[in-house]
Amino acid sequence: MPSRTRSARYSRRRAKRKAQVVNDLTAAEWTALREAWGGCAYCGGADDGALQKDCMLPISRGGRYTVENVVPACRSCNASKCNLELTVWMRRKKRDEREFWTRQVAITRSLAATEPAEG
Ligand SMILES: [Zn+2]
Repeated sequence: MPSRTRSARYSRRRAKRKAQVVNDLTAAEWTALREAWGGCAYCGGADDGALQKDCMLPISRGGRYTVENVVPACRSCNASKCNLELTVWMRRKKRDEREFWTRQVAITRSLAATEPAEG
């Protein structure tokens, strides 16, 4: 078997997986996340209608757009965090990591429990 064929097949599969990742978080899940946090997940700033989807583990580091990985963040937090790992950024900002993770886990669990049959 020529190796060219095999590598082409691999790259097609990779592209398909990438497309699935982008569409993982549904609009309903995003709304539920924003309601659960009630504002910016990082600084607690009010939801001014401009909260952004922040991947706790950045896409560039292998993160995905899922309920487990996305939190609402205000523009200022999102811009400041950028591509840093969340724990690194939080330490730099002197945020309470423990409190954040406790809340994050609780919200993810409650969303998973109440998830409607249809997304
Ligand atoms: Zn913020």
